[in-house]
Amino acid sequence: MRLSKSFVPTLKEVPNDAVVASHVYMLRAGMVRMLSAGIYSFLPLGYKVIKKISQIIREEMDAIGGQEFHLPGLNPREIWEETNRVEAFGDTMFHIKNREYILAPTHEEIMTFHARNVLKSYKDLPQIWYQIQTKFRNEARPRSGVIRGRQFLMKDSYSFDATWEELDKSYELHDKAYRNIFDRCNLKYFVVGASSGAMGGTGSEEFMVKSDAGEDTVAYCENCGYAANVEVAQSKIPSRKRDKNSLELNEISTPNVKSIDELCLFLKIDETECAKSRVYIYDDKPVLILMCGNDEVNEVKLEKVLGGKIRPAHIEELKEITGADAGSIGPIGFKGRIIIDIRLKEANNLYSGANKNDFHIGGIDLKRDLNDPEYFDLRIVKSGEGCPNCDENLEVFSAIELGHIFKLGTKYSVAMGANFLDESGKENPIIMGSYGIGVERVMACYIEQHHDENGIIWDNTLAPFQVQLISLNMKKPEVVEVSEKIYDDLTLNGITVLFDDRIDAQAGFKFKDADLLGMPFQVIVGEKKLKDKKVEVKIRKSGERFDVDLSELLGKMKELIKLKC
Ligand code: ATP
Ligand code: MG
Repeated sequence: MRLSKSFVPTLKEVPNDAVVASHVYMLRAGMVRMLSAGIYSFLPLGYKVIKKISQIIREEMDAIGGQEFHLPGLNPREIWEETNRVEAFGDTMFHIKNREYILAPTHEEIMTFHARNVLKSYKDLPQIWYQIQTKFRNEARPRSGVIRGRQFLMKDSYSFDATWEELDKSYELHDKAYRNIFDRCNLKYFVVGASSGAMGGTGSEEFMVKSDAGEDTVAYCENCGYAANVEVAQSKIPSRKRDKNSLELNEISTPNVKSIDELCLFLKIDETECAKSRVYIYDDKPVLILMCGNDEVNEVKLEKVLGGKIRPAHIEELKEITGADAGSIGPIGFKGRIIIDIRLKEANNLYSGANKNDFHIGGIDLKRDLNDPEYFDLRIVKSGEGCPNCDENLEVFSAIELGHIFKLGTKYSVAMGANFLDESGKENPIIMGSYGIGVERVMACYIEQHHDENGIIWDNTLAPFQVQLISLNMKKPEVVEVSEKIYDDLTLNGITVLFDDRIDAQAGFKFKDADLLGMPFQVIVGEKKLKDKKVEVKIRKSGERFDVDLSELLGKMKELIKLKC
């Protein structure tokens, strides 16, 4: 492809609203343009990458026996009402104005619709059906470019099985296919699985990559691969030890001391000697939570313990419930349920608020001074704490979900009446799984992981072209002649080439664009080196440059493309 005739509108400046690297570079490299918030057009260069990713996905899905469908994005609303998902999706679902139709945010219902009319006997099972298709979701805060779009491409597949054991097999096949897909795309990913509790053990795994653009926070152990959403993550952290002797309760005047740090400074104590109190409202009643030092309450864990929705008590409520403001609340004299983080299980000689402004109480022995308190793991884990599975430390960071595999079970088949007859002639609901990959997210995450300050660094698998051929002077006939010949030779030999044959662009501009677009190899044709019948080759990833004899260029490029990147 010749740059002089192509639509590759590169940008020198970072567009205003773009913050994350993939968004910046997809815009700057002329790969996408925004049409409206969360809605992007893919331009020719960007679309080439999407097609390459889609091809890898197709190959791996076909390899596990997947059959490709293409379902409509425009769906009759009534099918979605069979599963109550018009209500479940709420504002995220796009409705066509007359409300008879919706734009599909996913396709469980439509696949089940087809299954119920076809898969009638155990002999028709198992099946794996997939598609790579546009999804529509009215995301509240579309951001980070194509990472969270209102219209995006998803590979979604669905398995239909007769038994739970068969579902396990379909799930395993997808797990393997997903690993192959992400490995082939050269993505460094990790898997947050059901075993870590992320989905309550229903059989689900999320394939994630570390990224500042991510909206999930995960705890990850590089050593053993433990990965869990911070909402459920655990860590090894020493408990507060019990002192030999318990002191008497004693009230201490602590004027203007509100935080744990201020209390430690004022009393010259360690933060693990303090019990921090938080009051939540559950079921219209106050619950006091005691944490060690500066540990934070994990509200998801707390909701699991309590069995329902909670909310922090408002400032006015706090005063009413405890008689004090937030910085002076404590367990002694608190009327209501008290739940304590497991780290404090044996603790005595603790300091906490006195439920009286500007006073704290020392010498608290939880066993002695409280009636039957309950202990649970309620902490938010932090970076540097011990992995629960091995001896290394956890790292806590933001991550993006690339893909998701999920054992649906019979939720959709029961709701929609998709039944089959088993070997004994008995009617059963089909057992299903659903599996998604965000195609644009794969591309964006690749760029997140493979770029430098100059631009994108493609490797051979996803690169729009393998080589960027740069003619440094299209006004000199000898440079033009050699460049054209190289272009023909490489192209005829099956190497894909983006030829920077722009007449008026300066050499420096061409170099910058080549680094920005990021093809794995650059072949640079200039007057000076041509005098020795040489051209320069640059490897984008390493920045390595070397001269190659014209006569050896084709062989060298074939070798590089096969061996490197
Ligand atoms: P998220 O938690 O990021 O919103 P999700 O749980 O809603 O994701 P699924 O419904 O499981 O996602 O969809 C399958 C895949 O589709 C996701 O793993 C992700 O890669 C992709 N995806 C989901 N929402 C979007 C979006 N708004 N823009 C781009 N890709 C998306
Ligand atoms: Mg979502």
